[in-house]
Amino acid sequence: MIQSLSLTLEPEVAFDEAAFERAVLQRLQYACDDPNDPDRPVVRKIRQSIDARRANGRSGQVKVHVDAEVYIGEQPGSRITYRREYPDVGPAPQAVVVGAGPAGLFAALRLIELNIKPVVLERGSDVRTRRRDLAAINKDHIVNPESNYCFGEGGAGTYSDGKLYTRSKKRGDVRRILEILVAHGSTEQILVDAHPHIGTNKLPGVVAELRKSILDAGGEIRFDTRVDDLILEGSEVKGVITAGGDEISGIGVILATGHSARDIFELLHRKGITIESKPFAMGVRIEHQQALIDRLQYHLPGNRNSGRGDYLPAASYSLVTQTRHQGIERGVFSFCMCPGGFIVPAATAPGELVVNGMSPSRRDSRFANSGLVVAVHDNDLKPYGKSGPLAGLHFQKELEQRACRLASRASGSPTQLAPAQRVADFVGGRVSPELLPTSYQPGLHSVDMMEVLPETIAIPLKLGLQQFGRMMRGYVTNEAQIVGVESRTSSPVRIPRRPDTLEHIGTGRLFPCGEGAGYAGGIVSAAMDGEKCAEQLVKLYR
Ligand SMILES: Cc1cc2nc3c(=O)[nH]c(=O)nc-3n(C[C@H](O)[C@H](O)[C@H](O)COP(=O)(O)OP(=O)(O)OC[C@H]3O[C@@H](n4cnc5c(N)ncnc54)[C@H](O)[C@@H]3O)c2cc1C
Repeated sequence: MIQSLSLTLEPEVAFDEAAFERAVLQRLQYACDDPNDPDRPVVRKIRQSIDARRANGRSGQVKVHVDAEVYIGEQPGSRITYRREYPDVGPAPQAVVVGAGPAGLFAALRLIELNIKPVVLERGSDVRTRRRDLAAINKDHIVNPESNYCFGEGGAGTYSDGKLYTRSKKRGDVRRILEILVAHGSTEQILVDAHPHIGTNKLPGVVAELRKSILDAGGEIRFDTRVDDLILEGSEVKGVITAGGDEISGIGVILATGHSARDIFELLHRKGITIESKPFAMGVRIEHQQALIDRLQYHLPGNRNSGRGDYLPAASYSLVTQTRHQGIERGVFSFCMCPGGFIVPAATAPGELVVNGMSPSRRDSRFANSGLVVAVHDNDLKPYGKSGPLAGLHFQKELEQRACRLASRASGSPTQLAPAQRVADFVGGRVSPELLPTSYQPGLHSVDMMEVLPETIAIPLKLGLQQFGRMMRGYVTNEAQIVGVESRTSSPVRIPRRPDTLEHIGTGRLFPCGEGAGYAGGIVSAAMDGEKCAEQLVKLYR
C-alpha cells in the first residue's frame, strides 16, 4: 500500500533524513522504533519547497513544505521511468546539429531515439579541455573566442549554477528533461526540489555522460569544429560548411548555436535568411555577502551568529519592478540569481567585458550574486543610430567593448577587470573610493557606472534599486556592489520559425533551436526545444 501525505516542517526536521522519517511515521501513528525492522514502511520525499514568507520577522519560523509517499508492505520502485537505452544509429540517415549546448545535446539524443544519426558540430572544446580556457580568462585575462564560458561542450549551461527551474512549463515535459539528467548522473534530488539546481562542479560530469550516450549509440560529435556557412540549394539547407572547409550534409540542420554566436546571426543576415530583432535586457551583476541575503530572506535577527544554521540552503531572491523615466515604462528585474556563487567573466571575444554568475552544487561561497537588468526596447536603439535585425546585437557589443576599454585604460593593458561601484554609492551618485572583496576572480576597478551604462539602462536601474531597497530592507547598501556588464541575459535576435513545423519561416530543412533562435531562456527550456526540433525534423524529412 502507498500512502501520500503533505507536511509542513521545521528545516531541522525536513532536511535530516532520520528526523524526517520519524516525523512522517509519527504522523501516520506508526509505532516502529527499530530501523532494522524489515516491515518498517519506506518513506520517500516527492516534493519539497522552502517557505520563508511565514517568518514574519521572527527567527526560526522558516518552514519546509514536503509531499511524501510511504510504502507499507512494499518496496518503492525507481523514481525515474526514463531508460538510458538507445538504438544503434550508425547506419541510419544523418542530421546535422550545430552546437553542443543543452538544445543541441538533447536534440541529438532525441534524434537517436527516433533512429536518426546526429552529427554534432561544436566550435568549442570538450568539457575537460574547456577548463584550461576558463582558467586563462580568470588568471591571465585571455579570452579564447572558440572556448570560454559560453562556447564549448555543454554550451553556456555547463559552467553555470545549473538552475533547472523554468517558467516555460507549457513548452514541454520538464519532468522528462530532469529524468534524462538523472539518468546521466545528476542527483535524484532535482526531481524533488521545487527549485532544483545541479551546480557547476557536477554539470561537466553530466555533460560528459550525455556525450557518451550519443557516441555509444553511433552518433558523432566533432569538437573544435566551427560552422561558418550553410549549403543552400534554392530555399533548402542541405548541410553546413565548417571553418576547416568540410562540407557536412544531412536530412536537416538543427541550428542550436546559442545567444552568443554573433557570427551565425551575421551569416544568416548576409545570406538573406530572415532574422528579426527581439526585446532583451541588459544591466549589471549585484553582489552581496550571502550571510546578508540569508538574514534578509530568512528574517534572521542581525545578531544570530550561526547565520542560517546547518539545515537551510543559501537563500535566494527574485525581484521585479516597473520604472518610469522620461515617460517610458521599463521593467527592471533580478535574473539568474546565484546563491553561494561566483561572478564569472563570460565574454566570447577579446576586447569585450561580460559578466554572468555560477554556483557550485553546495552553494557555499560567501557571496550571493544576481543579474540586475533593465528591459531594452527597440526604440532605445534608435538614438544610437542602430536599426535592423542586428541592432540589439550591435548595441550589446558596443556596451561590452566600452566596459572593456574603460578597464583596459585603467590597467594599461587588455584586461577582464570589471567596472564596479558600491550599490548605495551608485544610487547616491558617488564613485566608490574603495571596493569590497569579490568572487569575481579577474578583479574589479572602481568607476562611475553612469559612464559605463547608457542612460536608458542606468537611470531605470537606479530607480529599480531604490524600489528593491524598499521591498527588501537592507538590499541597497554599501556592503554590496554592482559589477558590469550583464549583457547576455537572452538573445537580442530571433530566427523565426513556423509555429507548426518549427522549420525556419523561409528556409526548408533548417530548424533554428534553443536560446540563440529566441525560443528558450535557460537550460531546461533549451533542452525541451532541442527535443521538439528533433521530433519535427524527423517527422518532416525522414
Ligand atoms: C555563466 C552562465 C550561467 C548560467 N546559469 C544558468 C542557470 O543556472 N540556469 C539556466 O537555466 N540557465 C543558465 N544560463 C543560461 C543557459 O546556459 C542557456 O540558456 C542555455 O545554455 C541555452 O542553451 P542553448 O543550447 O540554446 O545554447 P548554448 O548553451 O549557448 O549552446 C550553444 C552552443 O553552440 C556552440 N556554437 C556557437 N556557434 C557555433 C558555430 N558557428 N559552430 C559550431 N558550434 C557553435 C557554442 O559553442 C555552444 O556550445 C547560464 C548562462 C551562463 C553563460
